[in-house]
Amino acid sequence: MDARTPDCPRCGYDQSGEVVRWTESCPLQGKCPECGLEFAWADVLLPERSRLTWMYEHKRDWSPALGRAMRTLANLALPWRFWARVTLAHEVRPWRALWFAVLIIGGVWFVTGVLGTLGIWAIGRHYPYYLTANNFAEAWVWPVMNTVGVGLRVANIGPLSFALNIEHWGAAVFLVVGFWVGMPAVLCLLSTTRQISAVRGAHIARAACYAALPLAAIALPRLLMNVEILINAAQNPPGRWQALSWLVRHGSTPLGVASAAWTLLWWWFTISRGLRLAPAWLVFGLLCTCSVLLSLVLLVSLGTVPVQWILAF
Ligand SMILES: [Zn+2]
Repeated sequence: MDARTPDCPRCGYDQSGEVVRWTESCPLQGKCPECGLEFAWADVLLPERSRLTWMYEHKRDWSPALGRAMRTLANLALPWRFWARVTLAHEVRPWRALWFAVLIIGGVWFVTGVLGTLGIWAIGRHYPYYLTANNFAEAWVWPVMNTVGVGLRVANIGPLSFALNIEHWGAAVFLVVGFWVGMPAVLCLLSTTRQISAVRGAHIARAACYAALPLAAIALPRLLMNVEILINAAQNPPGRWQALSWLVRHGSTPLGVASAAWTLLWWWFTISRGLRLAPAWLVFGLLCTCSVLLSLVLLVSLGTVPVQWILAF
C-alpha cells in the first residue's frame, strides 16, 4: 500500500492522531474533529481510489490529451453531474486544473486569432489598404481589446493603440468576471475565519480555475464571424453569406445568459455538493451577495453606459 498522510479531504487537518488510537479494530467511517466532515477511511488511506480516468486533472503527464479534455469539459458543462462524480476524497491538483483552463480558453482564442489573421489576408487580396498592422494585431485581441479606439484607452504599443472592447460586453460578462474573482476571494476569507467553511486552498483554487471557462465563450461569437469573413473573402468577387453573423446577432445574448446561469450553478453545486459546506444556502448567499456587488461595481465603472458618457465629452 502506498503510504499517505491521512488528511481530512476538505480542510486538510491531519488525522494521524485518530489512526494511532485504533487498537483492536479499524472503523470504516471517520469524522474530522476540525471541520466536522464525515468521510470513509478507505478514501483517505488509499490513494489509488482517488483518481478518475476521464478527468484531465488526474492525468500523469502534461500532454494536451484532447479526448480526456473533452470528457472533462462535458462533465463540467453540467455542474451537478461533475460534482456527483468528483468527491472531496478525489485528488485535487489545482495546477492541472489551471493548465486545463488555459488550454480550453487559450485554444478558443488561438483559433479565433488564426481565423482572423487569415480573414484579413483574404480581404487584403480585394482591398490592399486593409492590410494594416492594427488590423492584424486586433485579430488576436479582439474579444477584450480593439484598435478603433472605442472604450477606455488602455495601451499604446509602438504605432498600435488598444482600447478595452467593452462596448460589446454584455452585463453577463461582468457577472461572470465578478463571480470569478468574488466567490474564491470570499471563500478564502471565510475559510480562515469560520469553522463552518474550513476548506483547503487547493479546493478553492481548482473551483476558481473551472469557473473561468465561460471566458472561452466570450471569444466564440468572434470566432464564428471570422469563419464567415474568411469564407466570403476567399471568393471572387467577395461572397455575401451572412448565416453566421445572423447567428451571432441572435445568439450572443443567450450565450451570455447561459454563461451567467452556468456560473451560478457551478458555484452552488461546488459549495453544496462538491465541498459539502453546511448550511449551503447561507454560505452561497453570503458569497453571492459579495460577488453581485463586485459585478455591479465592474458594470458601473467599466460598462457600456459610462463609456458612452465618457465618450460624449
Ligand atoms: Zn476537516
